[in-house]
Amino acid sequence: MIALADCNNFYVACERVFNPRLRGRPVGVLSNNDGCVVARSQEIKALGVGMGTPAHEIPPLVRRRCTLLSSNYALYGDMSRRVTAVYRQHTPHVEVYSIDESFLGWHGFAPETLESRCQAMRAQVSRDTGIPISVGLSTSKVLAKLANHLAKREPAHEGVATLSPDSQITRHLLEQLPVTELWGVAGRMALRLLPLGIETAWDLRCADPKRIRRQTSVVMERIVWELRGQDCIPLDDMSQPKKQIMTSRSFGHLTNDLGDLREAVRTHASRGAEKLRRQQSLARAVLVFVRTNPFRNDLRQHSESVIVALPKATDDSRLIVHAAARGLEALHRQGFLYQKAGVMLMDLCDRASEQLDLMAGPEDDAQRQRRDRLMATLDKLNREHGRGTVSIGLSRAGSAWHLRCANRSPRYTTRWDELPVVRL
Ligand SMILES: [Mg+2]
Repeated sequence: MIALADCNNFYVACERVFNPRLRGRPVGVLSNNDGCVVARSQEIKALGVGMGTPAHEIPPLVRRRCTLLSSNYALYGDMSRRVTAVYRQHTPHVEVYSIDESFLGWHGFAPETLESRCQAMRAQVSRDTGIPISVGLSTSKVLAKLANHLAKREPAHEGVATLSPDSQITRHLLEQLPVTELWGVAGRMALRLLPLGIETAWDLRCADPKRIRRQTSVVMERIVWELRGQDCIPLDDMSQPKKQIMTSRSFGHLTNDLGDLREAVRTHASRGAEKLRRQQSLARAVLVFVRTNPFRNDLRQHSESVIVALPKATDDSRLIVHAAARGLEALHRQGFLYQKAGVMLMDLCDRASEQLDLMAGPEDDAQRQRRDRLMATLDKLNREHGRGTVSIGLSRAGSAWHLRCANRSPRYTTRWDELPVVRL
């Protein structure tokens, strides 16, 4: 059996742990730069505020009743780590899928004990971290995901629901579910199912797996087996390494300051390199782009990109940041107000299959090991103490590029100077 454990309204739940006044109130968490609503409490959903709504588009009458917070990723990341640590006390098989979702394996546990084990785990997560979770149990990941929705939707399940693959209730749920909403069915692929007469998840389950494989893909064939209750999707397949890595963001306000642009590009390049190392890839080239605001017809427009080749495939932040900086110098023009800058790492290859340089002597080997240790330390510090703790080059306070985060709660669990204060 497999469980999908998912934190309910995770970002909002983290905020409520430390600020109980937010309980029962409509709360939304905003994206970087306080742009759009990226997480919502039940209460704000009930007011009709949709996922991804730009904050400034929420009608004033609704806006006044809500609390909108800047995102506090240092807090969410640390709370996620704590929740996962509780899971590990209940089963050794924990695969983290996203910041608020993990798949738990229960090989060797008696199936009839699993619901009560998951109830105990849920109670412990709530006691130790304050975060509410829902657990879906089934024999495959796709069905566990479906069971999780059931656990969330139907209060009678008290947060833990089991779906056996051949039950009436499973059939009923699959018949109600459009195939496009099924986990793992990407939009483009789903479009190829419709001409085959497959509209619901149940249609897909009943389809001939070989035909599905021929007419769509191996991944889709696996989903057919998953819907029938066979566990056959290795998690890595659902999060394949990206072929290119893009990091970009709009400035808080338009800027023509080369310093602002340099800092943005440096930061994007560092973030990209970090993502690159996380997925065990190397990049061979760096693309840098800048652009003005295309909707400001009153301003002169400039939008351009440049590709800088790296001397060899690398994941070294220093080389990537340096290449990106050179690209920016080539692009930047005086007299334009820039709105956005970004960096794309391109032509990625697998780190493991990197061709070792045949001409490299033992000295280079030692250098490579030192570099790997340096990068690993950089990543560890930034992961544990918050993004930007250690960066390449100096970051200036108050530059246009800096994130707007007017309403961020304190980083209660990761900063000594922001610990919560208890008054008796
Ligand atoms: Mg969640």
